[in-house]
This record gives sequence, structure tokens and C-alpha cells, in this order.
Amino acid sequence: MRKLAAGNWKMNGTAAALAEVQALLAAHPAPACDMLLCPPATLMSRMADLARGTALRIGGQDCHAAASGAHTGDIAAAMLVDAGASHVILGHSERRADHGETDSLVNAKAVAALVAGLIAVICVGETEAERDAGTTLDVIGTQLAGSVPDAATPDTVVIAYEPVWAIGTGRTPTLSEIAEVHGFLRARLTARFGQAAAGMRLLYGGSVKPSNAAEIFAVPHVDGALVGGASLKAADFGAIVAAL
Ligand code: PEP
Repeated sequence: MRKLAAGNWKMNGTAAALAEVQALLAAHPAPACDMLLCPPATLMSRMADLARGTALRIGGQDCHAAASGAHTGDIAAAMLVDAGASHVILGHSERRADHGETDSLVNAKAVAALVAGLIAVICVGETEAERDAGTTLDVIGTQLAGSVPDAATPDTVVIAYEPVWAIGTGRTPTLSEIAEVHGFLRARLTARFGQAAAGMRLLYGGSVKPSNAAEIFAVPHVDGALVGGASLKAADFGAIVAAL
């Protein structure tokens, strides 16, 4: 399958940052992998304008489970589509921690995303305390079962394994720890979705950078990356794209 390099800009970037997108597109007009950037909502339309006709896809960082209504500050999936998005990140650990998002809420958001025609990038991952307690696979299995909707297909859902303790810290699991979790994710998805699970993309996320991208991408069942900090600079994200 074609791999996916996805960047999450989080709450970073104003119009000046769009120069990085232009630099990325100039350096990687025909990447060997799919390329996705998820900017803050305020930049989405302008980034989508830059991406039109290129290999770059645009995604949201969250959406509401409802189609419209009295939800001040929230964004509906169809609004992301209207602004030029093809994907949306759901259940990022920062949303789970900062906004108390549960697996069932993430599932409802994913259903809304699929109805609107978006591809849902659903995040799972253990905290450091959970890894230390030896409960990593239990935690991830529960998140996966609860957050991924029954309607998921390889064309509509991507899973991102992001250990919470590796996000923005410069620390990463060992390659064998990544292999263990990705193998587990594939097995659980196969048990639930059968053969279709073989085509579902499993991203690794957490302190991916140019210097570790190639070795992480060589791990079995790693079908790409979800990149935070290193996606903000064209040179860094471009190097990760080139490693896929
Ligand atoms: C993320 O937040 O999705 C992430 C992986 O961040 P970073 O690459 O900065 O660790």
C-alpha cells in the first residue's frame, strides 16, 4: 500500500507559515508517499488553495460529532470538507487529555467524518504510567475497539499509534516496541474487519524526525507517520516524506 506522511500543526502557524507549504511543494512535487498536512482551522482554506492540483492533502485536527447546531467554537465535518479537507485527525491524545474525549465520543466523531466523506485518522496510545504498568496493549486494545467505527474500511480510516509519552518529548519507543504494538493493532483489526484490515494504514507518531524516520518506517506494519513538531518546517517534513 502507499504510505502516508501526515503532519499535525496543532495550534501553530499564521499566514506567514504558509511559506513552508510552498517550500515543501517545490521540493517534493511528486512524493513516493501520500502527503497530508493538518493546519489550524484558520489556515485551512488558504493551505488548501496552495495544495490544489498538487500531491498534498489537507486535514482538520478535530470535528464535532453533530452535523451542525449550537456548538460554539466547534467545527462540523462537512465544514472541513467545504474548506478543502479530505482527512481529519480524531482522538489525538491532546484532545483526549485537554477536552476529556472518550472512545465513544471519538467513535461518534469518526462516524460523522465518514458521513461527510472525510478520511478519519484515529489516534490511540498509552501514557508512560500505563507502559510502566505493563498495560500498553490492554489500553490500546480498548481504545481501538471503542474509537473505530464499525463502518471503517481501508479507504475511510487510518489508525495512528501515538504513545503519549513520546509526543513532543524527543523520546521514542524502541523499534521492537513499535513492532509489537503495530502487529497487535493489525491482529485486532483483522479479528474485527477480516481481510480488509490488511489494507488499513497504521501510522506511528511521537517524536518522528528526519534522523529516525527511515528506521521507524522499516518496522513491519508501519505504513507511515503522524508528525507534530517536525511537520512545521518544510525541510524536516520533506526529509521524512523522502524517507517513506
Ligand atoms: C503528534 O502530536 O501527533 C506528534 C506526533 O507530535 P511530535 O511529532 O511533535 O512528537
